[in-house]
Amino acid sequence: RLNYRHAFHAGNFADVVKHALLVAIVAYLKRKEKPFRVIDTHAGIGLYDLSSEEARRTGEHLAGIDALRASPAAEAAALAAYLDAVSVDGPGAYPGSPLIARRLLRRQDRLSAYELHPVDAERLAALFAGDVQVKTFALDGWLALGAHLPPKEKRGLVLIDPPFEAKDEIASIAAGLAAAHRRWPGGIYAIWYPIKRAAERDRLHAALAATGIPDIVAAEFLREPPGAEDRLIGTGLAVVNPPFTFAQEAAAIMAILEQPLGKSGGASSRVVAIASERP
Ligand code: SAM
Repeated sequence: RLNYRHAFHAGNFADVVKHALLVAIVAYLKRKEKPFRVIDTHAGIGLYDLSSEEARRTGEHLAGIDALRASPAAEAAALAAYLDAVSVDGPGAYPGSPLIARRLLRRQDRLSAYELHPVDAERLAALFAGDVQVKTFALDGWLALGAHLPPKEKRGLVLIDPPFEAKDEIASIAAGLAAAHRRWPGGIYAIWYPIKRAAERDRLHAALAATGIPDIVAAEFLREPPGAEDRLIGTGLAVVNPPFTFAQEAAAIMAILEQPLGKSGGASSRVVAIASERP
């Protein structure tokens, strides 16, 4: 268990798309003064050294954040807040979702971050040591979806970014989301998923639809056309209770990312409804 190490993948194309969309959702929450909470159920260590052995072994950030920085797309206004948040540590490092979220918080907002891997949880705790706006937990993130909801702010975002190692990950996501939504129907939930073959993606959509939870959209980015091979070609984010601006913003952000993140011009993106709003 817990074989997945995000250090091999930090700053790759999937991280860029996921984090740019995360920033857009948090920006929406900041339109109101009222405090919000960000809950990161699978947080990782929060900051990745791109010169580490792991990062150099795969070089995935080269076709991700580095390609974006080198392209005219880096000037796009729609990416400014994202690029600001990931550039604080310089080009040799890349922040993870909890640190990106932390950088967007105002004084009244809070972050709760869960990481189950004991070594990673310790690094995450050290990163935020002394920060009164952040709580880290060396706990199972699925627990956060149960007992720890709703947060006292009653507004906010739950990011669910599991490693997809377990065979039954889709079932865990659907069950975890259903339990969470019962406790906190008004929260925004963003669920990351890999896109390899279409059939798997369709199974995830069907499992989310089968929860009966209304108002779910998915933003999907493919960096190359689907082929026969079973490898990561795309990245998805399913959002429950999306901000009313989300579909349009996500489409615009992903369209800008097609050029820098696409493989030989073959990228595409779409925003689709998984479940409609309750009438
Ligand atoms: N969200 C992070 C980001 O965007 O920077 C990346 C997270 S990575 C894809 C998944 C993380 O979940 C890994 O660090 C792994 O150790 C952790 N993990 C695996 N199972 C978990 C569980 N049940 N609860 C909490 N964390 C878990």
